Amino acid sequence: DLPVVVIAGRPNVGKSTLFNRLVGRRQALVADTPGVTRDRKEAQATLRGRRVRLIDTAGLEEAAAESLAGRMRASSELAVAHADLVLFCVDARAGITPADEHFAAWLRRQGRPVLLIANKAEGRGGAATALEAYALGLGSPLAVSAEHGEGLADLMGEIADRL
Ligand code: GDP
Ligand code: MG
Repeated sequence: DLPVVVIAGRPNVGKSTLFNRLVGRRQALVADTPGVTRDRKEAQATLRGRRVRLIDTAGLEEAAAESLAGRMRASSELAVAHADLVLFCVDARAGITPADEHFAAWLRRQGRPVLLIANKAEGRGGAATALEAYALGLGSPLAVSAEHGEGLADLMGEIADRL
């Protein structure tokens, strides 16, 4: 069985954009409205020679829970339980939000390996978020720009190393 890599995080941080980049084809549709990605959520990807099953957790709109953190959790629970590695994405431009903090706390309790990703960090953007992100207790964030294709080779290498 291929290792399972799950992309998680709140709506609009760029999960589907990252999924597309890692898959290398335009397989998921990116929507400007948070949480409305209705698309392919699973694909195989080859990351630095390592084949993986990549899962984009979306479907927040379908999960019944009142808080954003609760819905993030509900939509990710099953995928995270089976993950060999979780790519937890935050938005380096928006900074860390309470929903990120709650989800991170829950994620730490799941005991699955997590790679923290600060997306939207093109140029020098979002450098101020790095410290905040580190405080989530999930290690040092890896800065990438899924949209501009920055930091992705390093990310793929890091994923392959962790599997
Ligand atoms: P998701 O809801 O987490 O799946 O996020 P999406 O992949 O749908 O992206 C949400 C929005 O963020 C879209 O408008 C994307 O174009 C934008 N976005 C994604 N990655 C980046 C990035 O690296 N930099 C910037 N500036 N915007 C990005
Ligand atoms: Mg999406």
